Order: sequence, then C-alpha cells, then structure tokens
Amino acid sequence: MKKKTWKSMAGLGLAVLLGATALTACTRTEPAATGKPGESLPAASASGTLGEIKKRDKFVVGVKYDLNLFGLKDPGTGKVEGFDIDIAKAIAKKVLGDENKIELKEVTSKTRIPMLRNGEIDAIIATMTVTEERKKEVDFSDIYFMAGQSFLVKKDSPIQSIADIKKGTKVVTAKGSTSAANIREKAPEATVLEFENYAEAFTALKAGQGDALTTDNALLYGMAKQDPNFRVTEGAFTEEPYGIAIKKGDEEFVKAVNDTLKELKANGEYDKLYEKWIGSKPKK
Ligand code: GLU
Repeated sequence: MKKKTWKSMAGLGLAVLLGATALTACTRTEPAATGKPGESLPAASASGTLGEIKKRDKFVVGVKYDLNLFGLKDPGTGKVEGFDIDIAKAIAKKVLGDENKIELKEVTSKTRIPMLRNGEIDAIIATMTVTEERKKEVDFSDIYFMAGQSFLVKKDSPIQSIADIKKGTKVVTAKGSTSAANIREKAPEATVLEFENYAEAFTALKAGQGDALTTDNALLYGMAKQDPNFRVTEGAFTEEPYGIAIKKGDEEFVKAVNDTLKELKANGEYDKLYEKWIGSKPKK
C-alpha cells in the first residue's frame, strides 16, 4: 500500500517537505531542548498545564476518533490509533516518563477549541491547522505536519480539481474546519453541506448526498483507503500546517511540546512515525 499511496500523494509530498523544513527552521531559532533526549522533564511550576499533568500523572488529550491514519477508533477493540495518537504518546513519555499515561478524549473540529479552553483537555492533537484566527483563542506548537485541501470523489466523477466545483455542485465537509471556510471562500457558488464530523460527512458522500467531500488530502487518503470506490483529486488548493493547540499563554507547556517534537525529529522517531502512518517521505 505504501508505494501506491506515495505515488498518489505527490501533492502532499511537497507539503510534507515544507513541513519538515518548518520544523527544522524552528529548531534552529529555539533554545535547546530541556534535559537530555529521552529523559522526562524536571519539576514543572505548580500552576499551568504541565503542573496539572504532573499532579494527576496523566496527559489528557483531545484527538479525532473518525480519521483513519490520524486518529481512528476501532469499534471492535475500542483502541484509538493514528499519527496524532503516537505524537500524544511521545509527549506523555517526555513529560511523565511513560507513553501510556495518556487519556484520550474525542474532539470534533467544532468542539476542540471550547474543550481546550474550558479545561477538559490539556492539548488538541487533532489534524488542526494553525491559523491566525485560531491563534486568537489558543497557542500552537511548532508545525508537525503539512497537508493541503483537496477533494474525495467517486472513482468515475468528472471532478478533477477546484476548477470543476461549479454552481450546484454539492460539497460535504465538517463543521468548524478550515475546509468549510476555505471551500466557501474559494468556490462560493458551490452548495456546502456541513456535518458534525468527518464520519458523518463521508457517510453522506457514500449515500449520494454530495458530489465531493472536501478536507485535507492526508485525511482524504485515509478515507479512500477505507473505500476503494473513491479517489482523491490531484494537487491541493490550500496549505494546512498542523500544530498542537495549547491553552493561551502557557509558554512552559508549549516549550515542553516543542522540545518533544524536536527530539522526535532529531532521533529519527518522527520519520518512523511518518512511514508507519503516511508512507515513505521524499528524499530531502
Ligand atoms: N486541518 C483542517 C482544520 O483544522 C481540516 C481538518 C480538521 O477539520 O481537523 O480545520
């Protein structure tokens, strides 16, 4: 699957390269990581997210439950798995010395910021694009993944790109996402139908309620893998850099998260996680 996926992910490739560059660039300008790689952090200040996490000895993180490859709950086993989940585990390991000291809570694109702000979760690791608008409400870590918005359509659909989204084209997506905002802005003629989450949007697409589902290409590839009757259109019409969202003003915790990301990059773990969930990365 990996090879095939990679070929079809050419558009994502460039984006990923940019993501890697962004993370490297941040590494250069940021202060050195706290502690030696692999060591857990020293005692945190009593207040703030880091102190809370240490006190309860658990990292409570908001993740997606309906996005294959990033955060997907297996209804049989109850296990939630994906790239975002593995990043969450790495932070738990760094902060608490044990990757299993995490509690996952389901968020949707619409509920994630309110849940973070009212203290239900310590962080959002849920396919979340860093935007200026969102920065007014939350702080973000360094970029840990680059995606771009595209479309999921039936294999025989005439839709190849945003140019084919015309008046009357029905496009489904999730509430509270950049995907919904972007499609309304870039294809104002389209009929946009917003659902509570991506599982519902995908069900609607399969039921013929929409001509296309729009969101980040990385997520669409995950859906196409679940149902071979669908394909992802080539290229992307936006850039979607993913960051981990943290309560506003908590610099100490942002630093702990960024230190973890830097370590993952430096020790090769990031590339391994990337291979595991997304496929091989282009040579730099
Ligand atoms: N990355 C986009 C966003 O943050 C789309 C995926 C999502 O809804 O989580 O809105």
